[in-house]
Amino acid sequence: MKKTKAKAIVVGGSISGLSCAHALVSSGWEVVVIEKTPSPPTGSPTGAGLGLDPLVQSILSQWLMQPHLLQNTTLPLLIDQNQATDVQMKISRTLTRDEGFNFRAAYWADLHNLLYSALPSNIVLWGHKFLSFSISDCGTSVEVKTKIVETDDVISVTGDLLIAADGCLSSIREVFLPGLKLRYSGYCAWRGVLDCSGDEHAEAIEDLKRAYPDLGRCLYFDLGSGTHSVFYELLNKRLNWIWYINQPKPEHEGHSVTMKVSSDMVLKMHEEAENVWVPELAKIMKETTEPFINVIYDMDPLEIIYWENVVLVGDAAHPTTPHGLRSTNMAILDAAVLGQCLLKWGVDSLGSALHEYQNIRLPVVSQQVLHSRRLGRIKQGLILPDCNSFDPSTACPDDCEDLQQQSMPFFADTPPILM
Ligand SMILES: Cc1cc2nc3c(=O)[nH]c(=O)nc-3n(C[C@H](O)[C@H](O)[C@H](O)COP(=O)(O)OP(=O)(O)OC[C@H]3O[C@@H](n4cnc5c(N)ncnc54)[C@H](O)[C@@H]3O)c2cc1C
Repeated sequence: MKKTKAKAIVVGGSISGLSCAHALVSSGWEVVVIEKTPSPPTGSPTGAGLGLDPLVQSILSQWLMQPHLLQNTTLPLLIDQNQATDVQMKISRTLTRDEGFNFRAAYWADLHNLLYSALPSNIVLWGHKFLSFSISDCGTSVEVKTKIVETDDVISVTGDLLIAADGCLSSIREVFLPGLKLRYSGYCAWRGVLDCSGDEHAEAIEDLKRAYPDLGRCLYFDLGSGTHSVFYELLNKRLNWIWYINQPKPEHEGHSVTMKVSSDMVLKMHEEAENVWVPELAKIMKETTEPFINVIYDMDPLEIIYWENVVLVGDAAHPTTPHGLRSTNMAILDAAVLGQCLLKWGVDSLGSALHEYQNIRLPVVSQQVLHSRRLGRIKQGLILPDCNSFDPSTACPDDCEDLQQQSMPFFADTPPILM
């Protein structure tokens, strides 16, 4: 019997996986997404804020059909500001200020929910753990084995294309590039979201607005001595913060980049915050319930991101440090470009489609990963390849150019295939 639609199996139902589902459905493909999480996340203990660039906002608006949904769920990030913090003087000095930034701030779980709700029903198989895949002898189909987590039953799914959207520790990437390790950046990040929607934090918010007057439309980077923090507001009076701390690689369980924290660790972080940050920011960090630690990794850029009818997208293709606000934007762009390449070439020329996808995305993401790595080292005061390090307290305007988000390679580029 002749198949009517080409079929893709996507492993991973996070931002990349759901974005691929949108892009491929729009290109006329049938899609099944395999995700080990038992059900759609409604709020995520490890989720926090992220920034969406203008191109990604427009891609999302097309997928969501109702652009106001994205506007209603996010806040503007119109300004990108870097400032040097002098905790003794309890003041911050502006190093750079870009008022044409034009990103939007989203809460991870809200963005995930928007993407998921706009998909046709029954596309995502929740509670299904990917186990293995095999490519047919003629290389035209792929069979995936997955375990239903609740019952331990193993089922097979067959399709024309396997998309690995299974994150920075991708087990599909491991099949083609065994032993490839993530690179520890030299620092970890405390993260948290303070929910100020009730009255109990009203005073903290008022104080904060005095110290950070552009709260609600500004991405603030505070640079201290050998450390930096990021801070912006999310919808519904939630304050998103991240604080990067240089330290040896911590011992933690292999399959997560999020570390469990003890109450002693939280207390120590609170004490340190008072020594490093202006009181208003330290207070936000102290009032946040359940802060968590991300161990910050990336990976040297890959040379290949597809093999026969298997292709990598998102963090599986290019684990990156978060300093350029790229990982979610890269993931969504990967999906959009992949969808257009598949539309252009069709399933009968799958090799050409995947080749074009790789040609468009690999040079861009490779440079962005390396730039983000450098940006992190600058802001953390770590030694740079020229053997110097950045000191925010003495930096002159020329030294600060690279701090800006707009210094990211391909910052405002739209790939021609998306025009
Ligand atoms: C719960 C969660 C919260 C996050 N919160 C934030 C945030 O607040 N801010 C931010 O900037 N970034 C956050 N991220 C990371 C962000 O989503 C990614 O860096 C970026 O969007 C690229 O996403 P990705 O889909 O490529 O990878 P990931 O988001 O890492 O998704 C990979 C997905 O693959 C699934 N998976 C892995 N292995 C298997 C398997 N064997 N079988 C089935 N499924 C599998 C995972 O469960 C996961 O859902 C979060 C990621 C997750 C999973």
